[in-house]
Amino acid sequence: MKKAKQKTRAAAHHHAHMRHAARTDAPLYVVRRSKIHGNGVYAAREIPKGARIVEYLGERISHAQADARYEEKGQDDGHTFLFVVSSKVVIDAGVDGNDARFINHSCDPNCETVIEGGRVFIEAVRDIGKGEELGYEYGLTWESTDDPDELANYACRCGAAKCRGSMLDPVPLDRKRAKQAKRRAAKKKAAPGRKKARK
Ligand SMILES: [Zn+2]
Repeated sequence: MKKAKQKTRAAAHHHAHMRHAARTDAPLYVVRRSKIHGNGVYAAREIPKGARIVEYLGERISHAQADARYEEKGQDDGHTFLFVVSSKVVIDAGVDGNDARFINHSCDPNCETVIEGGRVFIEAVRDIGKGEELGYEYGLTWESTDDPDELANYACRCGAAKCRGSMLDPVPLDRKRAKQAKRRAAKKKAAPGRKKARK
């Protein structure tokens, strides 16, 4: 299972305090209606590969809380604000979330998520041109016992040549767990670095 990559950071270093000739603190992105789905996030200027674009914010809750919270929402629009940080923590961007929640799934993403110290950041995996919509692979976690009608809500229309047609992780969690259980002692793990499908 692909997990969000953990990056090692070089030690912080001091530098001389200097005046910058031209400050470029123009925002990196802008939120507007997307052709893919609802709102989308677009590069407001060129974003270099590796740039940290935005942190994924929201209320930090348990998996049980997340499941209970969205159990009642029968009518799902196929969009999810839940991000799996670890086997214990899920970020619900539906509560106190920021613009990061509007970044759509893409099967040919220009961004990736990086988990660092329990926090989630969206970073560019390649140079992104001004006006491009930002996207990353949601890899939504699901179980083979989930209602197929509900899973169909997570169809993908990203338009990429290699679109998988789904925002779901190709392999359901329970099958992954069964595989893991065979190898070592059964150890239940949610997939970190993933969005969580509402149930
Ligand atoms: Zn797609």
